[in-house]
Amino acid sequence: MDLEKALLRKVGEAIGRFKMIREGDRVAVALSGGKDSLTLLEVLLLLEKRAPVEFSVCAFTIEQGKFLRPIEPLAEYLKNRGVAWTYFRDAPSLHLIEDQPEHGCDLCSRYRRRAVYEVARGLGSNVIALGHTADDFCEALLRNTLFTGKLSALPPVTHSRDKEFRLIRPLLLVTEDLTRRYAELLGAPLVPCGCSQRTGTVRESLRGLFAGLEERYPNLKENMLAAMGNVDTGRLLDVRFLDLNGQDPPHLPPHLPVDLPARG
Ligand code: SF4
Repeated sequence: MDLEKALLRKVGEAIGRFKMIREGDRVAVALSGGKDSLTLLEVLLLLEKRAPVEFSVCAFTIEQGKFLRPIEPLAEYLKNRGVAWTYFRDAPSLHLIEDQPEHGCDLCSRYRRRAVYEVARGLGSNVIALGHTADDFCEALLRNTLFTGKLSALPPVTHSRDKEFRLIRPLLLVTEDLTRRYAELLGAPLVPCGCSQRTGTVRESLRGLFAGLEERYPNLKENMLAAMGNVDTGRLLDVRFLDLNGQDPPHLPPHLPVDLPARG
């Protein structure tokens, strides 16, 4: 189907371009219960069968006490699909809600990260796949530029501090209109997180801004993604990258998109 083909092409391109997955990798997908990570899981399961490198895929969900619906229907769905899925109730996170119900995202994220590494280690995984989308990259770019004074978005590939895990974001070229449609098509029972429905945050404002602009400029996010891969450092203000003495600036090789061909 066209939607699935488009997802395979975009995820394959991101994986190839940023060397996200390598021979023998065991990839653990961090399944949040939402449409994005579920799409990521399904697409990686398809690529597992046809990519030119051998790798395996499993999935896990960290319970932090913030889901708005029971997890059982999702568990049933994954079981029927034959997915190797681990559900981990993180006791420190659950205590956090009891002890500090108004805690901020920093603390919550720190708890989640520790739990993610613990689970991935238990699964024997060396790669953790995260469901951040093109929308997240565009929002991060705008948020960092407008509010933190830094021209940056999210890393497509990064590593845990001790290099135990490679963290990858294979949905970086996939917009959320595609993940929404794909999750609907799959008929998967999504489990929303209470926090993601908070309003009035910077994220909500940026989403509103994008939605308004995209009515007139539908290719906005594609252009922003292209811009992130085509940096003209000579026209920015960071002196580390400026040719102030009239010498040739360092040559930056172009990013070439690479598709993963089907395995014969
Ligand atoms: S939005 Fe909620 S779940 Fe997400 S990091 Fe913040 S506190 Fe945690």
